[in-house]
Amino acid sequence: MIIAVDGPAAAGKGTIARALAQHFGFHFLDTGALYRMVGLAAIRAGGEPITTAAAIAAALSLDPSRFADSDLRTEKVGAAASIVAVIPEVRAALLEFQRSFAKKPPGAVLDGRDIGTVVCPDAHAKLFITASAEVRAKRRQMELGSADFEAVLADILARDERDSKRTTAPLVAAKDAVTLDTSGMDIASAVAAAIAAVEARRTP
Ligand code: C5P
Repeated sequence: MIIAVDGPAAAGKGTIARALAQHFGFHFLDTGALYRMVGLAAIRAGGEPITTAAAIAAALSLDPSRFADSDLRTEKVGAAASIVAVIPEVRAALLEFQRSFAKKPPGAVLDGRDIGTVVCPDAHAKLFITASAEVRAKRRQMELGSADFEAVLADILARDERDSKRTTAPLVAAKDAVTLDTSGMDIASAVAAAIAAVEARRTP
């Protein structure tokens, strides 16, 4: 069984996807980390601004088993990820790894932007997790321990814009996705709602 969890930055999809994987005993893949790794590697190899050539070279030589780089979670790397994610060759280079991960038995949960639309269009359950930009910025600010709310909000809005407007695999809810707006929810109720939505799609 494949569960696709998509949505904009800081909507809670990572937390929900991990909880779903734990609940159902499935494998979990944070596909944003792949794009973050490419963004970080492109900065390290070619400096800034990131060039298309450096991004493509980084994507082609990516070793997804080297996941635990603490620099991956910064806003700077998140922004770099959304810059490299616009490049079709980068997306193509990451596609096969994601698709073969999704086939792992007994099931897999993948979170990202285009899982339900491009990576796994035949996923058994698709969730689109969203929340208002202000709520997402507040959450990201708390996570980062950063005082400047306006700067975090501006980053989130810039990332939304890049992710939604790109030509290849833009951020959009799949037609058959269940949308969950977590703006007014705490983690426990968002996770419970997500589990209920997946259960409803589960074949007996
Ligand atoms: O989810 P996360 O914030 O870690 O993703 C970082 C960036 O990677 C996103 O803003 C997006 O541009 C890109 N991404 C993507 N497709 C995915 C996952 C992430 O384009 N499936």
